[in-house]
Amino acid sequence: MKALAKLKSEPGIWMTEVPIPEVGHNDLLIKIHKTAICGTDLHIYKWDEWSQNTIPVPMVVGHEYAGEVVAMGQEVAGFSVGDRVSGEGHITCGHCRNCRAGRRHLCRNTYGVGVNRAGAFAEYLVIPAYNAFKLPDDVSDDLASIFDPFGNAVHTALSFDLVGEDVLITGAGPIGIMAAAVARHCGARYVVITDVNQYRLDLALAMGATRAVNIGEQALDDVMTDLGMTEGFDVGMEMSGVPSAFSDMLDKMNHGGKIALLGIPPSTMAIDWNQVIFKGLVIKGIYGREMFETWYKMASLVQSGLDLEPMLTHEYAVHDFQKGFDAMLSGQCGKVILNWTS
Ligand code: NAD
Ligand code: ZN
Repeated sequence: MKALAKLKSEPGIWMTEVPIPEVGHNDLLIKIHKTAICGTDLHIYKWDEWSQNTIPVPMVVGHEYAGEVVAMGQEVAGFSVGDRVSGEGHITCGHCRNCRAGRRHLCRNTYGVGVNRAGAFAEYLVIPAYNAFKLPDDVSDDLASIFDPFGNAVHTALSFDLVGEDVLITGAGPIGIMAAAVARHCGARYVVITDVNQYRLDLALAMGATRAVNIGEQALDDVMTDLGMTEGFDVGMEMSGVPSAFSDMLDKMNHGGKIALLGIPPSTMAIDWNQVIFKGLVIKGIYGREMFETWYKMASLVQSGLDLEPMLTHEYAVHDFQKGFDAMLSGQCGKVILNWTS
């Protein structure tokens, strides 16, 4: 089968031929329809330090996808051939304390699809049936192919009560923008999002942010004054991974504010702990999606009218994958989809 793989220890990604993966007793074989390119795939493409230390070569990458079940292991229940599915990219161990308590997102032995084992940028993918999520008919393949990052946004945004709250999101990458849309949909009062990339800030406005602030050009304090905010933000979502953005957020939070941290800083990050202590801030780290509460919430949010279509800014047939990666590298994009059926 065709697959996009990291074949060499250098920047780039290559189309190759690999065998269709074997289907174990508890697995599904999924024919891939659509995939989306994640920031993680971009790290692997660029072959940065994290990728060099993490990704064995050769490796079929990719973990954002929608497809169709074409075969199943003999122990699988609850799925049928022909089911449209996406899937949770974190494969959990099932035997650690958190897994056994049903807190799979806190598994200490997580394996990543397209990171630690063969991924979804291929004509076929094998995953444990446990990890698959059956798609409602009214969720398109395009939309389902971004459920993995949408799930990061939903997991983060639903970590704290948003109703009537003022929310600050630092980083208008795809995840930050989708979190802004979720916050508005769920009843936040003001959703202010920051970035340095004007294309993405414009997209955030189209997706429902109250204000999209280019921090190179405008001070957050001025925006807060303009909105009549006298005290500070109630909820913060750090979605840039940039240390200075997190520092700014700490400074703009109201006392008793709650922060969810999703962005991954490049290395150890110093902060002003006095902000945390004297303001009584609550900080929660977010990894992945809750299994599978986040997935149900995602489907329901879409079915209750949350419109994610503006996020889907680029789509290419898979043989044009380089154009897709170039769009991602440019930063002038929302989500970039590759079509494996054309
Ligand atoms: P992204 O890189 O596309 O988005 C980050 C955005 O932050 C970019 O648009 C960038 O221009 C912006 N930015 C840069 N400097 C900024 C600043 N000073 N202030 C505000 N914004 C600034 O990433 P993404 O795919 O949307 O993911 C967001 C973050 O979440 C990344 O750090 C990613 O590594 C991380 N991530 C974490 C998890 C998890 O499970 N914790 C999962 C996926 C991604
Ligand atoms: Zn576990």
